[in-house]
Amino acid sequence: MKHFLGLIMASGLVLAGCEQATQEPGSEATEADSEIAADDVAIAGNPLLAEWDTPFGVPPFDLIEDEHYLPALREGIRRTLAEVDEIMANPDAATFANTLEALETAGGDLSRVSRVFFAVNSAHSNDSTRETAKVIAPELSAMRDAIFLNEDLFARVNAIYEQRESLDLSAEQMRLLSESHKGFIRSGANLDEKSKERLKEINSELASSSQQFGENLLDETNEFELLVSDRADLGRLPGNLVALAAEEAKRRGHDCECWAFTLQRPSINPFLEYSPNRELREQIYLGYAMRGDNDNAADNKEILARMVALRAERAQLMGYASHAHFVLSDNMAETPERVYALLDQVWKPAIALARKERAALQEMMDADGIDDRVRGWDWRHYTEKVRKARYELDQEALRPYFEVTAVRDGAFAVATRLFGLTFAARDDLPTWHPDQEAFEVFDADGSHLAILYMDWFARESKRGGAWMNALRSQQKFGGDVSPIITNNFNFPAPIGDTPSLISYGDASTTFHEFGHALNGMLSDVTYESLSGTSTPRDFVEFPSQVMENWMGEPEVLRMFAKHYETGEPIPQEFIDKIVASAKFNQGFATVEYMAASYLDLNYHTLSHPAEIGDPREFEIAAMEAIGLIEEIIPRYRSGYFAHIFSGGYSSGYYGYMWSEVLDADAFQAFKETSLFDRETAAKFRKHILAKGGSEPGMDLYVAFRGREPSIEPLLERRGMTDSE
Ligand SMILES: [Zn+2]
Repeated sequence: MKHFLGLIMASGLVLAGCEQATQEPGSEATEADSEIAADDVAIAGNPLLAEWDTPFGVPPFDLIEDEHYLPALREGIRRTLAEVDEIMANPDAATFANTLEALETAGGDLSRVSRVFFAVNSAHSNDSTRETAKVIAPELSAMRDAIFLNEDLFARVNAIYEQRESLDLSAEQMRLLSESHKGFIRSGANLDEKSKERLKEINSELASSSQQFGENLLDETNEFELLVSDRADLGRLPGNLVALAAEEAKRRGHDCECWAFTLQRPSINPFLEYSPNRELREQIYLGYAMRGDNDNAADNKEILARMVALRAERAQLMGYASHAHFVLSDNMAETPERVYALLDQVWKPAIALARKERAALQEMMDADGIDDRVRGWDWRHYTEKVRKARYELDQEALRPYFEVTAVRDGAFAVATRLFGLTFAARDDLPTWHPDQEAFEVFDADGSHLAILYMDWFARESKRGGAWMNALRSQQKFGGDVSPIITNNFNFPAPIGDTPSLISYGDASTTFHEFGHALNGMLSDVTYESLSGTSTPRDFVEFPSQVMENWMGEPEVLRMFAKHYETGEPIPQEFIDKIVASAKFNQGFATVEYMAASYLDLNYHTLSHPAEIGDPREFEIAAMEAIGLIEEIIPRYRSGYFAHIFSGGYSSGYYGYMWSEVLDADAFQAFKETSLFDRETAAKFRKHILAKGGSEPGMDLYVAFRGREPSIEPLLERRGMTDSE
């Protein structure tokens, strides 16, 4: 049943960097036309709805046309509702088989179609698919309401849940029952009519507020420009970035020898790093930091205050003390208190380290003869100067050692040594784009395990970032189904004879997404709803982040990082520099991330009626309470904290660090034995990767490690132990 939720949230999409906005949970209850007319002609010859007569049953991308999607999705919705009606019409008393397992099977066609559609609309969209996405969103959410707010259906699920102890269910069946029951409760199925009506109103207002927040932010971001007319103010900005800024100035209609900088990170960050002009740095820094807080028409303060109040009210309707209590009760952390406990442990050493970093920057600034203390707009500039002075590491010089297929083969080789998996290219499989590669993945015993697609290069039809999704999830209910997984990236495409040379960070992203893919491919559960990456937000990044650890190990770098022309392995000198600089500037990175995590929780632990007054004052008070230094601002200030006010991360921004505690401690298990210890790898596969969401995260972790995770490995990785 959970895969219905997944469907609406765009189908098992797992993101890297996770800057992506997902929808407000349960808030997409816009009124939709419930009349869905099936167009018989569009259905009959529609390859999406036909039997997929392809190797391994992969989607027939070569036969699918844009106009097939909308009718297939609508037919999928119609069939789903009909299947659910049939479950309710069953005159027999509700049983696990005739209700829970029947729900698990219901929606199969819709799931198949929508997984393909949302994957394609992310990786290779056009006006037609984007229009389809817009049209289908309210229809999917109307379907969701029709199912989750249906009293008769909930009555059946609830009846089974009430007798759960006497049903002799397996552990996984019990999990499916409790998760499904919880899904209904959390969607409001248990509320009286009046509360249900209020819930719909709240969800609808939250949906439009969050939309407005995003639009204001876009306006504020696009409106700003910094026009530079003195070449000296660019300092040693790399040539390609100078050219980009000149192009941007032309695009904005400036007919002069000048350069335009914007508030997009790829534009503002290099400017802050390279420009020696403090006044200009201050201008662009404040332009960025004040978005949504300029007391103008695009100001976001009133909107976000209203959203905080509505979320607190909704939490109270659901019987929770606050929105954070509501959200976290479904996460691994369980309560805000446990999240605060984690943050508080890391905060002290992090802020201490940031103060140390500030002292080094101050020294460098003094040496420049500037008679002032370091300000926010100085931080990145002097950080780069200190980095160069200390490590002499030129990121660009590394690229020739990170040719994209070499990195891919490095990730595959790590999976071979850990789990015995092997990979064979399958050029015969249909793809959604010619750049997409397909592999058959075999288990250690040579049996078929999965199909893995990898779509590497940036193009206009692809959205930004990197992510994984499942075109088909593993399950065993009603016959073995093997997974079909995709990884998607935005790396530079090869030009002429020059292959795609990616950065060290991109190589890390490759291993990260491949970690999500392993989670999907090595899944071994009965029910689809519990398989692969169907895990809570504060757990899902654990299997992916952990793979990044192998990438950075000298032994692994020597395995795959070879010069694309000479085949020379990466020189020891470079490896030494990479290792030496790994902990550089971690105080800043940790503090700005954590400040935003605290801010998120402070807003969302308020109880109804949550009146926060002026959000600017609220934010200042929150930052004073943790002792943030004024040279650093939260990674997202309130007015542009899109993750929590126009995305799906409210009360969940802490999740990256929670997952990092797990990944750092888990990797330690390998460090204690050996990097490729097969026994440890087998345990990791059995207790973590294979289990998906079929057991609570902490139970899985303890089964793997024999104890709860320790925070020490994370502190050490970030250079925050006492000995540093
Ligand atoms: Zn990820």
